[in-house]
Amino acid sequence: MLLDIVVDGDLDNNKTLREVKCVNQIFPDLKHLTYNIRKKLNAKKWEHYSRYEDVILQYYKKSSNNEDLPPTTELVKHLQIHGLTKHLCDDYSECWPEVCWMTQNPELVLPEPNLLNCTPEEQEKFSAMLGEIFQLNIGQSLYNR
Ligand SMILES: [Zn+2]
Repeated sequence: MLLDIVVDGDLDNNKTLREVKCVNQIFPDLKHLTYNIRKKLNAKKWEHYSRYEDVILQYYKKSSNNEDLPPTTELVKHLQIHGLTKHLCDDYSECWPEVCWMTQNPELVLPEPNLLNCTPEEQEKFSAMLGEIFQLNIGQSLYNR
């Protein structure tokens, strides 16, 4: 018997489960992870980014929840941090068509909020912020392939 298990993102649970022989795959509970990201985004530290909350969560959910995508941790991480930052700068070269609605609709104008009027330094900071809010979640994703 093999089990596919959905976890809420608790690291100790994940570690224990991985050592159980009948556990086939461990899936992160996306709802819980999304809640964590929202919570982090609303922390005082990132207050000035709160207007990006919807676009970040939308991008995150699409890239984490698509069964056709090759869900290796590194690829997803790259997409969610660098892909999303570039996306908000009107550069869709790193976006996956499954995740991004812009790649197939070049006539669309990038909606606000975006990073178009930001300096490279501000874009860099945005990227660093994404790295930080996704960090915990990525470590807990445990894509088992
Ligand atoms: Zn995009």
